[in-house]
Amino acid sequence: MAILEIVLEGDPRLRQKATRIRSVDDALRRLAADMRETMLDAPGVGLAAPQIGVLRRLIVVHVPAGHDEDDDPEVNLALVNPEIVRAVGRQVGPEGCLSIPGWYGDVPRSDAITVKALDLDNKDVRLKAHGYLARVIQHEIDHLDGVLFVDRIEDKSSLRRVEDDEEDERMDAGAA
Ligand code: ZN
Repeated sequence: MAILEIVLEGDPRLRQKATRIRSVDDALRRLAADMRETMLDAPGVGLAAPQIGVLRRLIVVHVPAGHDEDDDPEVNLALVNPEIVRAVGRQVGPEGCLSIPGWYGDVPRSDAITVKALDLDNKDVRLKAHGYLARVIQHEIDHLDGVLFVDRIEDKSSLRRVEDDEEDERMDAGAA
């Protein structure tokens, strides 16, 4: 496995639409493993392939246990061609992005989503997510369409720079 270089805002690849993946093969599984290692090293809670300069529809997610509720389990996902097929409710909360280091802002998102995708075994999966996990997945799917979280901020005054030593706020929002 390898830690890959994360593409930063300003790079045109972050503004392009990623292409659908026709089928999952070993090369794609290796890419997903490298993306996971890169995400954990950053550290981040999600990473989309365009963030390492690969314009294909693949995302990885890692949300630690107990983020919303104490008994929430740790979630690790690798989703190919993820698509939101149902979205309900609204939540507004802080987000950061590994491609825009140090910046955080309050982003409106659907509160609960149903996602359809392929897993790394090439099988159809359908999953439901709400709260923080739903937020992270929506952030990552946006990356596949060239959309960044700063585009979605309604209250632009909420966009703020958080220094490295403000650990609490960084951990609460996460970066993806
Ligand atoms: Zn991001």
